[in-house]
Amino acid sequence: MQLVTKFGTYGGTFVPETLMPALEQLEDSFLKFSADIKCMEELSNYLKHYAGRPTPLYYAQNLSRKWGADVYLKREDLLHGGAHKTNNAIGQALLAKFMGKERLIAETGAGQHGVACAMAGAMLGMPVEVYMGSVDVERQHQNVQRMELMGARVHKVDIGGRTLKDAINAALRDWVSNLDSTHYVLGTAAGPHPFPTIVKFFQSIIGKEAKEQFNQMTGAKPDAVIACVGGGSNAIGIFSAFIESPDVALIGVEPGGRGIETLEHGAVLQLGQDGCLHGMISKVLQDESGQIKDTHSIAAGLDYPSVGPEHAHLQTSGRALYGVATDDEAIQAFQEVSRLEGIIPALESSHALAYARKHANGTLHGKRILVNVSGRGDKDLARILEYVEQNRKDFQ
Ligand SMILES: *Cc1c(COP(=O)(O)O)cnc(C)c1O
Repeated sequence: MQLVTKFGTYGGTFVPETLMPALEQLEDSFLKFSADIKCMEELSNYLKHYAGRPTPLYYAQNLSRKWGADVYLKREDLLHGGAHKTNNAIGQALLAKFMGKERLIAETGAGQHGVACAMAGAMLGMPVEVYMGSVDVERQHQNVQRMELMGARVHKVDIGGRTLKDAINAALRDWVSNLDSTHYVLGTAAGPHPFPTIVKFFQSIIGKEAKEQFNQMTGAKPDAVIACVGGGSNAIGIFSAFIESPDVALIGVEPGGRGIETLEHGAVLQLGQDGCLHGMISKVLQDESGQIKDTHSIAAGLDYPSVGPEHAHLQTSGRALYGVATDDEAIQAFQEVSRLEGIIPALESSHALAYARKHANGTLHGKRILVNVSGRGDKDLARILEYVEQNRKDFQ
């Protein structure tokens, strides 16, 4: 058996020849691993007893009353580690063990994926090394401390823009030189085949649970499913259970920065063009000569100049819709969800909530909306207080 390597015209495997055997071995092992009942039981056990699955589905009655639609929140913020990234880190760490690899490497931007890998590595007794741009090491120092506390080694990357894109390149270089011993735990549903498919598989637990929980609570399906999109892993995870149900609208939300003139810094599916980055064909933010643009969002976890190839395909085929939320809109949603429900969402997730809040009055009025709360916002408090201070007149 072989997996599909492309989503429509997107995806594929555009890597140096030296990496091809590793990707082929990974695909082969993933097929065996995912068909092995014992392996799947082991994964379920760790997800349940270590990570805390299933996460709840919560009918947000106060938001529903205020916004004018029935709002249901899938609570990935309650997962161990505080975000959905744990699902993928544990999954890939177990897959690496299954393959006989003893060392894990990862890239990280905001540090969340690095922390999730450090957790999984500590728990499974595997050494973890994380590549992180030096700009991000400065900005996200707490996450560096968390990773080190759990025994991971953090490598500062001092090339290029010294952020996520450069960290991925550094991790790929490490992988090429250490293929026998090392598995590269890619953090989102992007990169060369088979990574988008593997990450989707591990994140699809979000959609499976949410679909069943939603049916138990309401006896129906949601009218719309909304998730934020950085690389696209939490979104594809929750979408996956509903892609075959054409009556369920799928909506991904990208960062819109300060508004219309800054869209080019994050809204990949609005303004990106077809291009090749990190081993895949997808939408990429680039200038006229094909140089990759630097991204900037208030939510560090959404700062990626490309997007997983399946999202580019879902957009092109018309199956999913992609919108944006600005920094201001995300902060307003963050504040309102905190005040009305006592849930402090991650700034990334606040983009999805902002879209729901804005459209509950219009196209989504009176509908049943399922929003993926991909993570919790404790990590964002300092950033938000600073932002609100600087823009005092806009927020009460
Ligand atoms: C990393 C992160 C994201 C963005 O990553 P995706 O792969 O697009 O899901 C979203 N929310 C949180 C809380 C994150 O940590």
